[in-house]
Amino acid sequence: MKKIVIVSSCLLGMRTKYNGESNKSITILELSHKFLFVPLCPEQLGGLSTPRPPAEIIGGKVITINGIDVTENYLRGAEEALYFAKIYNVRYAILKDGSPSCGSNYIYDGTFSGKKVTGMGITAQLFIKNGIKVFSEKNLEAFLNETKKQE
Ligand code: SF4
Repeated sequence: MKKIVIVSSCLLGMRTKYNGESNKSITILELSHKFLFVPLCPEQLGGLSTPRPPAEIIGGKVITINGIDVTENYLRGAEEALYFAKIYNVRYAILKDGSPSCGSNYIYDGTFSGKKVTGMGITAQLFIKNGIKVFSEKNLEAFLNETKKQE
């Protein structure tokens, strides 16, 4: 049976990004014959529109470039994504790095200047806290190795 893997919607080519674009990854799409990929966008699940103003994590809160606190939307989106993961006992996720929701290795530093810092987005944090293994689009090899181990 194919393993269910939650994937950031934008990586699968859905235009869920803040600017209405996608982050389509051909490499991930090519793996879709091996896994059952379920696309989720925590920011949309949290009630935010697309397009939407970019947001970054500042002092534990998520703030848009216009200074609006959208932390509640980010928390709600993360909880909704986890709710889905629990229904199907999903063990793996491939999430877009750098996002204040999906980032797992780095996020942006809160100054909207493009500067990266080590850190995790809100959904990635909640997934890991609940035992879901999170990979980014940049460490697919680790994802493949890990899922192979469990075969
Ligand atoms: S929240 Fe995640 S899935 Fe949604 S657009 Fe941002 S990176 Fe992609």
